[in-house]
Amino acid sequence: MIEAYKPIHLPCGGVAYFEVESGISYRCEMCMAVVGSVGMPSYCRDEYRKTEMLDILAGKQKGYTF
Ligand SMILES: [Zn+2]
Repeated sequence: MIEAYKPIHLPCGGVAYFEVESGISYRCEMCMAVVGSVGMPSYCRDEYRKTEMLDILAGKQKGYTF
């Protein structure tokens, strides 16, 4: 597995796996929605954004974006 495509653990309790078919997105296994998309439940997206912000503040932005 390529290092950059490691699964993301989301605050909703699900794990998002990189979709090799699309090549650009992660899909939350719990919500069955693409991470960052409108189909993603707001609670999951909001929590995820908070987590991402904390990562940015901590200086460890992983390089994935919405
Ligand atoms: Zn989710």
